[in-house]
Amino acid sequence: MSAVDSHTRAVDSFSAYLEGELAPEAKEALEQHLATCIQCRTSLERFKLTLGGLSRLKGPAAPHSFLADVQQQINRRSRGRFFRRRWMLFGRIPFEWLSLAMIVAMLVYYIVFLQTSPTGVRPVP
Ligand SMILES: [Zn+2]
Repeated sequence: MSAVDSHTRAVDSFSAYLEGELAPEAKEALEQHLATCIQCRTSLERFKLTLGGLSRLKGPAAPHSFLADVQQQINRRSRGRFFRRRWMLFGRIPFEWLSLAMIVAMLVYYIVFLQTSPTGVRPVP
């Protein structure tokens, strides 16, 4: 096994090692490698520090009004362009309903056209 491989394997097993999930042989191999390799020992220390920093991030959750406050702030700063309160049934142009109306209009036109259409059209003998 090359030196690079053993370093890579050592670094890959840090997480399992720190959580005590490493198989005994793998753990022993890693500890032997760590005993002789300052590079991986340093990496492991950095890994632990990073984990410590991450666990400190788990602070108290955001207050309940957080989302509403952010949306209100965006609304104010955009001068009402975003997150406007929708007090109308459709706050913006109701494209869904426009297209539905178009489809209904075309259907009605088609039905009316079908019933009045066949002038001068004869079936092929
Ligand atoms: Zn190493």
